[in-house]
Amino acid sequence: MLKNLAVLVAFSVAGVAATDLHLNNLAFNTPCLKYNELRNAGHMDIGVLLVVKDERVRAATSEALNRWSQVIDMTWHEDRTSTCALTIVEAPVAGFRYYSGDRLVTNIPPRTARAQLPQNADTFKGIVFVNTARLLSLDKYWMADAMQHELGHLFGYNSHSDNPRSIMYWNVTGDNQKLQKEDVKVIARYHKTVLHF
Ligand SMILES: [Zn+2]
Repeated sequence: MLKNLAVLVAFSVAGVAATDLHLNNLAFNTPCLKYNELRNAGHMDIGVLLVVKDERVRAATSEALNRWSQVIDMTWHEDRTSTCALTIVEAPVAGFRYYSGDRLVTNIPPRTARAQLPQNADTFKGIVFVNTARLLSLDKYWMADAMQHELGHLFGYNSHSDNPRSIMYWNVTGDNQKLQKEDVKVIARYHKTVLHF
């Protein structure tokens, strides 16, 4: 039976201005400058800015990045300066309410995490928003699965798998889901892969 706790969806806001995307009540106005590195079809060297306090979330993010480095041609390192490419930032527990300027774009029930999609040319800043409270309700493997799933979106997987065994299934269940061959084919449209089935 599927668990409903970790419902993960891709974050997509069409048609809003590029520079003013922010989360309500979230004082975070300086995302990484090199987010376009996440669109690099060759080798990616990803500086990661982790704006999260809890060590378990940091560890899960590390694990998820390490898993992806075994699939696509990329290396990563922590980077606390503006030369970073990927931002992992805590969203307020109150919910994921996205604003463009003063305009409420969407107001949905709280999710475990959301990722921006590189296909959204105007809004993509290489950000994964995490709901720390919900993430921490998962065990460490499930947390890493959730982060792996979100990074999949960030690397170009702009939909979901219909295979419940896939890490890119819409519902991350914590039940031994893995990246599947068909998932790698999707990612390979955007990135050089190093994993061959
Ligand atoms: Zn998703």
